[in-house]
Amino acid sequence: MSGIECKRVLVTGGAGFLGSHLCERLLNDGHDVLCVDNYYTGSKQNVQHLFEHPLFELMRHDVTFPLHVEVDEIYNLACPASPIHYQRDPVQTTKTSVHGAINMLGLAKRLKAKILQASTSEVYGDPEMHPQPETYWGSVNPVGVRSCYDEGKRCAETLFFDYYRQHNLQIKVARIFNTYGPRMAIDDGRVVSNFIVQALRGKDITIYGEGQQTRSFCYVDDLVDGLVRLMGRGPEFTGPVNIGNNSEMTVRELAEKVIDFVGSPSKLIFRPLPEDDPMQRQPDLTLANKELGWRPSTSLDIGLRKTIDYFEEVLKG
Ligand code: NAD
Ligand code: UDP
Ligand code: UDP
Repeated sequence: MSGIECKRVLVTGGAGFLGSHLCERLLNDGHDVLCVDNYYTGSKQNVQHLFEHPLFELMRHDVTFPLHVEVDEIYNLACPASPIHYQRDPVQTTKTSVHGAINMLGLAKRLKAKILQASTSEVYGDPEMHPQPETYWGSVNPVGVRSCYDEGKRCAETLFFDYYRQHNLQIKVARIFNTYGPRMAIDDGRVVSNFIVQALRGKDITIYGEGQQTRSFCYVDDLVDGLVRLMGRGPEFTGPVNIGNNSEMTVRELAEKVIDFVGSPSKLIFRPLPEDDPMQRQPDLTLANKELGWRPSTSLDIGLRKTIDYFEEVLKG
């Protein structure tokens, strides 16, 4: 794109759901993209359509090991994000967040590169404050089954701010709230993809607990735009900043909407609520709006229809 300087950008976790959309956006903006991934939850297929692009490069690498490359900016997204996947090998999940952050911060330090961390609303745990502003310190169980992810991401934020204070690094920390869209894996296990795939297959929709817990769902294109805007901000703004959609709903309402949109005969079935599953979650977007001039623009109805169309194609193939 004319008028934008071509930067060399590293995206860790670039073959995952969010990473693949981010790589695509950065290429469209005229940047040179190095996608690094160990395919723990992502796949080459997610970025296959970018292979022919002259500015795209893919490298198999685990961020828990040092990485020596030359880039101008780093988006650190490497980390399994779905509870079933991050709980499969919890020690590796913590290592990915913590050792991965140390390595990518070391890389950024050597290169004097800007670095953005994909943090999460999970740093707020099961929040006692609603909606959650960035000033809220959270309510997180340090020894539960979700801790490998929650505490790993909290420690990564600590590392980012210590490298900022101690080594003057240019850091950006985004706290991402539940995001959905095309290229979530069929077996990802998160709620939007589970419900859509179950509805399209005419299978029972698995509601955990009574479905009264709430989430606020953001469409992937909006999220990626928020990340790119955050990276574009000057060094005086580090975040942390919430990026997500603030239209909150219960899990049961989501299930009913998906059944309606798919026109599915599926019935709701109820399964035990996973341990430490947060009861409510909604981002306070005041800061993102003020500092990034950003707010989500895709309604759940439109985003869900696009995601349903995507899974329909995948299930046909
Ligand atoms: P995803 O599982 O689709 O993508 C994660 C990617 O990281 C995968 O491609 C995986 O193979 C890769 N990866 C995992 N461990 C790695 C390692 N050690 N070395 C290199 N690559 C590794 O999940 P996603 O939804 O795309 O999430 C991307 C990032 O955004 C994650 O850091 C996640 O914590 C964060 N996030 C996502 C959401 C969301 O709702 N999608 C919400 C909050 C935070
Ligand atoms: N590192 C890396 N790539 C680099 C520079 C550093 O992966 O280009 C890793 C390095 O292996 C180290 C980590 O980043 O373990 C932290 O680096 P830093 O310089 O902050 O600390 P130190 O090397 O002094 O432990
Ligand atoms: N959930 C559900 N059925 C599913 C998958 C998830 O009811 O098949 C619930 C889950 O218990 C949680 C919410 O949906 O309350 C969001 O779950 P997800 O794994 O997508 O994300 P997170 O819990 O990390 O917000």
